[in-house]
Amino acid sequence: MADLVITDLHVDVETESGPKPILHGVNLTIKTGEIHAIMGPNGSGKSTMAYALAGHPKYTITSGSATLDGVELTGLSVDERAKAGLFLAMQYPVEVPGVSTSNFLRTAKTALDGQAPKVRTWPKVVSGALTRLEMDPDFATRSVNEGFSGGEKKRGEIVQLDVLNPKVAVLDEIDSGLDIDAVRIVADGINRYAAQGDRGVLLITHYTRILRYIEPTHVHVFVNGQIVESGGKELADELEISGYDKYVKAVHA
Ligand code: ADP
Ligand code: MG
Ligand code: MG
Repeated sequence: MADLVITDLHVDVETESGPKPILHGVNLTIKTGEIHAIMGPNGSGKSTMAYALAGHPKYTITSGSATLDGVELTGLSVDERAKAGLFLAMQYPVEVPGVSTSNFLRTAKTALDGQAPKVRTWPKVVSGALTRLEMDPDFATRSVNEGFSGGEKKRGEIVQLDVLNPKVAVLDEIDSGLDIDAVRIVADGINRYAAQGDRGVLLITHYTRILRYIEPTHVHVFVNGQIVESGGKELADELEISGYDKYVKAVHA
């Protein structure tokens, strides 16, 4: 099972001048096997939602709930949320100098499984995932994201997804900064993950481009910290033509 249920989620971001409300009651249910695309203009709070779900300390859930297979995530640490099965690919992946990609993944995998992966087969696990993302196996020994190009960082996030195989993947603008070949490679990786069947995907984007490769089961329009419209993939087609204008205007009317 991989059910993520978000109920009336309100989130503040910590700013220099105090807390600022960004999410104003998000409701969203992702059931096992579903791929949800969240689309919305810049600044609408998409990343805030992703960070709040993952437990970033700068984002405070002031009310509401988020459960993964019945486990309440709010109040859990970042590690505990990961252990519950949640994975976040960040819009801006962070560099971890001095920690190799292989060791980083090994530490994460050990924490998730409660036991270390077999030493003998581990290099193959990592090089297999890198190869599937069309990255050089040498990346295994390089520090996480350090000196990676924008596109390599994004592929690296999907390498993590491949190796860690969480229940639910929240992918924040995984398509931004990718050239057309890389979009396909990243999309293939997400599709392989989703094809296992018992997984859930929350794909945050503001371009419809990646949806040519990944067929969402649900599409949501996100404006001003709320979901203002939901539909099937035809909603993405409509957004491609008309943009967010109509939804933004309705919110501010
Ligand atoms: P999106 O991902 O949809 O582009 P974000 O979640 O990044 O939107 O941002 C939502 C709003 O929250 C924006 O107005 C942004 O300026 C504000 N915000 C996010 N983080 C901070 C922060 N650390 N300090 C001040 N404002 C922030
Ligand atoms: Mg943004
Ligand atoms: Mg964002």
